[in-house]
Amino acid sequence: MRRITWLGLFAVVFFLLAARADEAPLQGFIAANATAERQWEQKFRALPNPDNMRDDMQRLSARPHHVGSPYDKQNAEWILSKFKEWGWDAQIEEFDVLFPTPKERLLEMTGTTHFVAKLEEPAVAGDSTSNQQSEQLPSYNAYSPDGDATGPLVFVNYGLPDDYKTLDRLGISVKGAIVIAKYGGSWRGIKPKVAAEHGAVGCLIYSDPADDGYSVDDAFPQGPMRPADGVQRGSVMDFAAYSPGDPLTPGVGATPDAKRLAVKDAQSIAKIPVLPISYGDAQPLLAALGGPIVPKEWRGALPMAYHAGPSTGKVHLKLAFNWDVKPIYDVIAKIAGSDQADQWIIRGNHHDAWVNGAADPVSGQVALLEEARALGELAKQGWKPKRTIVYCAWDGEEPVLLGSTEWAETHEKDLEQHAVAYINSDGNGRGYLSMSGSNTLEHFVNDVAHDITDPETSLNVWQRLRDREISNAKTADAKKEIRDRADMRMSALGSGSDYSAFIDHLGVASLNIFYSGEDDDTGIYHSIYDDFYWYTHFADTKFVYGRALSQTIGTMVMRIADADLLPFEFNDFADTIKTYDKEVKKLADDERDQIIETNREIDDGLFAAVDDPRRPKVAPPKEDVPPHLNFAPLDNATDALVGSAQRYHTALEKGWAKGLAAGTLQDVNSGLRESERRLTTEQGLLRRPWYKNMIYAPGVYAGYGAKTLPGVREAIEQKNWEEADSEIERVSKVLTSESALIDSLSEKLESASR
Ligand SMILES: [Zn+2]
Repeated sequence: MRRITWLGLFAVVFFLLAARADEAPLQGFIAANATAERQWEQKFRALPNPDNMRDDMQRLSARPHHVGSPYDKQNAEWILSKFKEWGWDAQIEEFDVLFPTPKERLLEMTGTTHFVAKLEEPAVAGDSTSNQQSEQLPSYNAYSPDGDATGPLVFVNYGLPDDYKTLDRLGISVKGAIVIAKYGGSWRGIKPKVAAEHGAVGCLIYSDPADDGYSVDDAFPQGPMRPADGVQRGSVMDFAAYSPGDPLTPGVGATPDAKRLAVKDAQSIAKIPVLPISYGDAQPLLAALGGPIVPKEWRGALPMAYHAGPSTGKVHLKLAFNWDVKPIYDVIAKIAGSDQADQWIIRGNHHDAWVNGAADPVSGQVALLEEARALGELAKQGWKPKRTIVYCAWDGEEPVLLGSTEWAETHEKDLEQHAVAYINSDGNGRGYLSMSGSNTLEHFVNDVAHDITDPETSLNVWQRLRDREISNAKTADAKKEIRDRADMRMSALGSGSDYSAFIDHLGVASLNIFYSGEDDDTGIYHSIYDDFYWYTHFADTKFVYGRALSQTIGTMVMRIADADLLPFEFNDFADTIKTYDKEVKKLADDERDQIIETNREIDDGLFAAVDDPRRPKVAPPKEDVPPHLNFAPLDNATDALVGSAQRYHTALEKGWAKGLAAGTLQDVNSGLRESERRLTTEQGLLRRPWYKNMIYAPGVYAGYGAKTLPGVREAIEQKNWEEADSEIERVSKVLTSESALIDSLSEKLESASR
């Protein structure tokens, strides 16, 4: 009896809470539509099923499925059949792209110690897909050139520009040498690029156990980390300096009739031969290095003293590739919008892998598939999205964003007219929500995150992320900043996954969303051990974060597709631009102060005074003191943007209170869709015109890492002061134009609620 009473009470409380949730305002929805939207979203979130994800992962990762492999095509066809089964209008779009594969790989050391690298990843007992040698791509870096190089070996730490300054001070040149760099610290393609700029003739990249091996956790198969013979494959195409996608058809779709460059004219191919190796193969090479001991920060976790080199013996690196054009298969599926079918919400995750790719990309692909199944189910139950939903399973992401870039370039005109937003994922793990992308959607992403339950704590994923960020913040100020801000900050997108063509080239607002932070998947990244066995032993083994990812992105897709007013918002965006403005000013000041200080230390004889004669170092060269830059245009444009964002917010609140007519909503929506495109220029970034977004870009010397206000920031980093001033002008104009657009939307709202 008592039990029933309690249950009854719970039911009443639950009913009241549920009713409250239903009636709460929903950003972007008129009250009459908010309740229905919430109900459909709740139905949706009950549908993604971890057991399906597990089955789909086992199926998709059962065999190696890189570009050009039989299983890559079979997977695309299987994904297509699933979309059709779930009621989507789906098809495969095919492109023909340059995809080199190894014909010959030789790495040996000659001289007193003769050593030949084995360049093989062995099968592991118990891991049933690790022995599929006949279908596995050998370990290599795609878009390395052919080459036959011989030279002394030099260790260059992570192979970044600053590492070469350190080598200069040690009096070591890499001219005519083969360099060996550790994986990490930057995107891998930066390493051969910088090595070539310094005169090296070849580049080896190895995985040090300090970064993704036994220093971190037990090695596979006892634990998740990289074993002695594990190798990270990966592309070294210089996409950040040119463009991602097929190197033979830059800027246009790689359709059968496209005009193609000759391979020798493809600019984004690396300049010197480059090969990734395991630490098992690297250890004898590193042990043969002479010269000084390297700085402490350079040392790895191998049981040896790390010397910089050069080696007395020579290293011989010989690489040859099949430079074939291969077909790729993008699966494109649609649910047509019921009311505004010409507006598209696009969602993608790639399906190709370097080998079996359970974590990268299948863990993201299976979440995408469960979203698609669930949305198909809702459509059968009568849900009609207002806008068109486009789901994309991309091929050829690994060689560098081939499928998404070629599709976006082929459909450029359509996307300019129709695309509202693009939402990407590229694998998934266990832990905390990771969100990055266009800051105009920052408030929206925060909003959705409140509605998703974390599988491990039952907190909502927003709360859990915020708690972690507060706990990780290093200073009291940083903790306070998080506590005082209504929204969690969203980081900027660089490149390295399929959102790049959308945000960087077309100016389509984009997001990249996944869960991570509790498991480390770096140790099997791009190796034969990234497979079903690894994922189901060491990652999201119950696929509950797979379900959370489906729930998160699916809710976003539905909410944008159904919104009465698109969820772009400018307060967070303007606030973020303010932080960028501060950052670039500080960067210029720091750069200037540091040059003045170093010059003074040289003049005062400090370097000679502190030098250890047994370990002599060369003093750095003196540099010209940079002029002060004129940041006034950027400060003014930022202030104006903050004002415009506030005005829009106020106008919108008044508008909602008074009620907004369908015509007004439509008018404002078309302006909102334009808002990300306004951040692009026709001319694009200097020396890399494919990159048209003036706010976000991958760094020319960072690769995947984002450079915000890239024209200004990179000019300062490169000490190109005149260019920094002119780029400040250019980005300020873009921001001013954005403010004008936002003001025009505010006017529409203000006059409608007058
Ligand atoms: Zn991936």
